[in-house]
Amino acid sequence: MALATNLGFPRIGPDRELKKAVEKFWAGKSDANELIESAAHIRRANWMRQKQLGLNHVPCGDFSLYDHVLDTIAMTGAVPPRFGWSGARVDLETYFAMARGRGTAAALEMTKWFDTNYHYIVPEFGRDTSFRLASEKIIEEFKEAKSLGISTRPVLLGPLSFLFLGKCSDDSDRFALLDSLLKVYEDVLDKLAAAGAEWIQIDEPILVLDLPESVRSLFERAYAKLSAVKIEILLAAYFDELRENLDLAFRLPVKAVHLDLVRAPGQLELALKSVPKEKILSLGVVDGRNVWRSDLDRILTALKTAAAALGKDRIFVAPSCALLHTPVDLELERDLDDELRSWLAFAVQKTREVVTLTRALNEGEHAVADALAANRAAAAARRVSRRIHNPTVKQRVEKITPEMLEREAPFSLRRRAQQSALNLPELPTTTIGSFPQTKEIRSARADFLAGRMKSAEYESMLKREMEQVVRFQEEIDLDVLVHGESERSDMVEYFGERLDGFAFTRNGWVQSYGSRCVRPPIIFGDVARPRPMTVDWTTFAQSLTKRPMKGMLTGPVTILQWSFVRDDQLRKITCEQIALAIRDEVLNLEAAGIGVIQIDEPAIREGLPLRRDRWNDYLTWAVDSFRLSAAGARSATQIHTHMCYSEFNDMLAAIARMDADVISIESSRSKMELLRAFRDYQYPNDVGPGVYDIHSPLVPSVEDMEELLRLALQVIPRERLWVNPDCGLKTRAWKEVRPALKNMVEAARRLRA
Ligand code: GLN
Ligand code: ZN
Repeated sequence: MALATNLGFPRIGPDRELKKAVEKFWAGKSDANELIESAAHIRRANWMRQKQLGLNHVPCGDFSLYDHVLDTIAMTGAVPPRFGWSGARVDLETYFAMARGRGTAAALEMTKWFDTNYHYIVPEFGRDTSFRLASEKIIEEFKEAKSLGISTRPVLLGPLSFLFLGKCSDDSDRFALLDSLLKVYEDVLDKLAAAGAEWIQIDEPILVLDLPESVRSLFERAYAKLSAVKIEILLAAYFDELRENLDLAFRLPVKAVHLDLVRAPGQLELALKSVPKEKILSLGVVDGRNVWRSDLDRILTALKTAAAALGKDRIFVAPSCALLHTPVDLELERDLDDELRSWLAFAVQKTREVVTLTRALNEGEHAVADALAANRAAAAARRVSRRIHNPTVKQRVEKITPEMLEREAPFSLRRRAQQSALNLPELPTTTIGSFPQTKEIRSARADFLAGRMKSAEYESMLKREMEQVVRFQEEIDLDVLVHGESERSDMVEYFGERLDGFAFTRNGWVQSYGSRCVRPPIIFGDVARPRPMTVDWTTFAQSLTKRPMKGMLTGPVTILQWSFVRDDQLRKITCEQIALAIRDEVLNLEAAGIGVIQIDEPAIREGLPLRRDRWNDYLTWAVDSFRLSAAGARSATQIHTHMCYSEFNDMLAAIARMDADVISIESSRSKMELLRAFRDYQYPNDVGPGVYDIHSPLVPSVEDMEELLRLALQVIPRERLWVNPDCGLKTRAWKEVRPALKNMVEAARRLRA
């Protein structure tokens, strides 16, 4: 019989219990026992839930107090020396210190987990790293589940992915540490086997990347060692196809291999042909990265093909990846209407789909006829729903012409027109958009949304706030002003709420990092803009000053990237629809007299495919979408864009092709190193490298920023250099922002002199 399995369940709890428990502990309002008890409660509920839903393999070890890579650091005792840890076991205090820093010991870095919006803690290795078993969390969790009568399948991050995802703090080779690392893994596997575990899931997601041969060649050695333990190994790779690593995975002495058939359905055929006879395939058929209900009929066809080739006994039915990246339970959504709800599935519903599919395969479709019929009806309704399909929008997308991506003149001519329209000084100063979101603003917004504050009152509060922001900027003599974004709680949500085709959940949280969760909007239908979204606020702010007021928009790629996107059409098309809406907004702002407009694209890099040979295709449509949103502007209208907190060196050609008149880009932390790439590429347009690190509460001095600007001047010609902070100021306090921006303007002034 085929088995219904899961690769991991959301760990935050249906009501974000984890966040609350962890933050309470950090604030000193609870002790370790209370935290441990809350965590055990979440795990118990998750296991019971999955078991009741009918899964055969329920995962354990997928839970984490902060992050599963940090858990692996703890398990292997890879605590960097600055934390002064020497105990036998990594204690809670050391664990959280690595995540959040302690005194002078800086936190470990955090970065994005593959192409998701989840961030993991980056392991630090060095010549002196030695591994030893320093946390038995996974073994304890296995026993904990067993004591509840649930036999689970533990999940571990694999040794090669663990090393690959880390970095070396010296020039040593982290893969030289493999043998010492494997000893810990063998030890853990031994202990799990002794505790009664029959299976272990070992995640090696790096197998979907373009791996150097030197790393590929280590897999056989590693898995030869691990397979010596009496426990069956499921090797799991996800987020893309295995491609040249499929053969490698099949050669390894593991009992089962997991394939992501949502991202890469095409690899099934080859896998069925080449899988060795003794191996089981775990078929990742339910999308673990999105919120849509599956097309069960279509999946069942694929499962039957697999069953015909392998026999049912050699099949695990699974989600494409861990369900960490989906919200927990659709049942908790009170405000979604029934129609929209009928198209959605969160983690609980996806688990149910896995079970339904497995039963249909094992017992025949009649056994789950009702579930299949309901699924079919919802899919049929979705295909023709007028709420989703807007013929006007579809036609507009089809009529996009190459000319619509071109500004009316090249940069050199636009530049002249903008200079005479704006009359800015050399080294113009500006900010990235947001000003501090004070407690007053946030509590007024909460009151307004809860109906405790009238909209007139809320609006006049915002206007007072904007007026203050404008006066402050005039007082310190900034050149291009902003209105401060106090009306926005979030740069994507604000636009999503004003566009057709978007829905918002109440409880659709997914973990972003540690205790931080986000609630991405759901793009369910064709995107249209019923009316202008920012014109009133921007023109109000402009009416307060003679200086240019910069209109602030979020770019199409960033809106796409930070939302759950419909799965019934190409992402490219959805992005074009958003771009058309932003394009209309640009034209409305321009017609209302706004001469500078910024279209933020901080998330453009996040959309890059995991495989290099697909970068070009993505960058082509992503940059085209940006151009589509901007290119309607007249020459004299200055288009800015902004990017931050990413590696941009290897995509400068794409950035240049965006053809923004001005790009502001975070760079103060890397001390302008990024700019070298701009020079080498001979980036042609204006650049504003950030000179004020907005993640730090420190106020940079005039000299600090002058120094950074001098460095920038070595690479960017004076007439193309702007002066601005790294990013928006929304998380900072006024007491820091005031002196920091004053100093920034002073630094520009000194350099002009
Ligand atoms: N305009 C936005 C702000 O200033 C940009 C934020 C971002 O880059 N993430 O807040
Ligand atoms: Zn930014």
